[in-house]
Amino acid sequence: MAIGPPPDVPLTKCRRCPAQIFFVLSEKGRPIPMDAEPVQGFTLEKRKPGADGLHYPHYVAHHARVYISHFATCPEAASFRRDG
Ligand SMILES: [Zn+2]
Repeated sequence: MAIGPPPDVPLTKCRRCPAQIFFVLSEKGRPIPMDAEPVQGFTLEKRKPGADGLHYPHYVAHHARVYISHFATCPEAASFRRDG
């Protein structure tokens, strides 16, 4: 089942492809288009040597639903950087 964007964010359509997107602000205040549907990703937790029976530093992956910038998935992404 589709999860979609946060419920209080308006969906719009990419001007360059048929994708559904929504806009958020980057930490620097610039608008970023996001794919409407989050993907299953992971956050990584660093563990010290000795944890989990391993003698070297390692990471444990935690499931997370994450949104991807439409810049990463749009087939016309190159044109964003020109006139964006
Ligand atoms: Zn697009």
